Amino acid sequence: MNGPSTAGPSTAGPSMTGKEMHELVTRLYPLCRSITGDGVRATLDVIGEHLPLRVHEVPTGTPVLDWHVPREWNIRDAYVRDPAGRKVIDFTASNLHVVGYSVPVSATMPLRELRPRLHTLPAQPALVPYRTSYWSEDWGFCLSQETLDGLEEGDYEVVIDSTLADGHLTYAEHVVPGGEEEVLISCHVCHPSLANDNLAGVAVAVELARRLGEAGRAGEAGRRYTYRFLFAPGTIGSITWLARNRQAAGRIRHGLVLACAGDAGALTYKRSRRGEAEIDRAVAYVLESSGRPHRTLDFSPYGYDERQYCSPGFNLPVGCLTRSTYASYPEYHTSADEPGFVLPESLEDTAQTCWEVFQVLEADRRYTNLSPYGEPQLGRRGLYGALGGRSDTQQAQLAMLWVLNLSDGDHTLLDVARRSGLPFASVVAAAESLREAGLVAEWTG
Ligand code: ZN
Repeated sequence: MNGPSTAGPSTAGPSMTGKEMHELVTRLYPLCRSITGDGVRATLDVIGEHLPLRVHEVPTGTPVLDWHVPREWNIRDAYVRDPAGRKVIDFTASNLHVVGYSVPVSATMPLRELRPRLHTLPAQPALVPYRTSYWSEDWGFCLSQETLDGLEEGDYEVVIDSTLADGHLTYAEHVVPGGEEEVLISCHVCHPSLANDNLAGVAVAVELARRLGEAGRAGEAGRRYTYRFLFAPGTIGSITWLARNRQAAGRIRHGLVLACAGDAGALTYKRSRRGEAEIDRAVAYVLESSGRPHRTLDFSPYGYDERQYCSPGFNLPVGCLTRSTYASYPEYHTSADEPGFVLPESLEDTAQTCWEVFQVLEADRRYTNLSPYGEPQLGRRGLYGALGGRSDTQQAQLAMLWVLNLSDGDHTLLDVARRSGLPFASVVAAAESLREAGLVAEWTG
């Protein structure tokens, strides 16, 4: 199966609350995802219950940019039994216990021989680490330091019932139709039982797609951008997508990588490689004007799939929105990144922030003042005091003056909002009134 297949409902359902997003995280949590295999497919099946998905299967060995699609990995069971026959490490208790992409093993060996294969976190002795070995054939187990310290010398039975064989890499897209230019929302689906790093971003992306679907039914014709949601394994998945979608990549005007989207930390935005792209300015504006605690970081070629989208050949305007950042919190890539570490209110806050960013992207435009010599007489056109009696009259008039003054082709409405300190929505409304009155026109370059 090489071509795309479709799964799921024909349209997205109603939007989800933070609690429902959290339920999705909890439901997806036990699945043993990796960069390929049935765990990814099962994850996409669940997402497909919420959104129509186009699922792509790319065969092992397919060249993708400087890489190739690896063999497909699947695992059914794995354990280690101590000399007394007790299972001291058990994959069925947590899929983190097996190093991802472990080759099959069935052996008995003394502890001293097994020990180099056992990965722990000595500084966090109660936690199990998350480890993978995608690109070199290997096997191993992960366990808590406390468990390791309790193991006695003797012969251990070691079983990993896995297969590493030619197969496919699986990823999925959900497209919300709009104008020709696109907004990309990308999240990785390759981590096994880790909640914040992986599933929180997935849940927020699902929610955003559903909200767009609802808004679409209200007025699809008016949507400026097409929104493309990509659910793909990290690194190799985005590389595969880029390799197969050069044309679609060229249509991306704005993009966000969503990850670590549900912990209690403040929102953090990492700018695109361009640094001053519209997405960078839109996210910064939404975060600043919201009064939310937040951080903004410059681009670095380290982190999530922005590394691929912002590689110099593509240099796409794609930033990365997280709460706590990549590899920065003690729960990161450990068994402590479980559903209890993800908060419904954080998921909702991340989704709402993205939603507000979408509103800015949809409405931000550049205008030309058609009457730039002196102020045009607004009263004669019914614009001065047109909103008489409303408490926001003064703000609306001020917004018109700002839009008129800065509509020189150099400034966008977002620039007007930032420079004036007025709400973006007021500036957009003012521009619309002025356009209707023939005082400004959309700038065409
Ligand atoms: Zn990760």
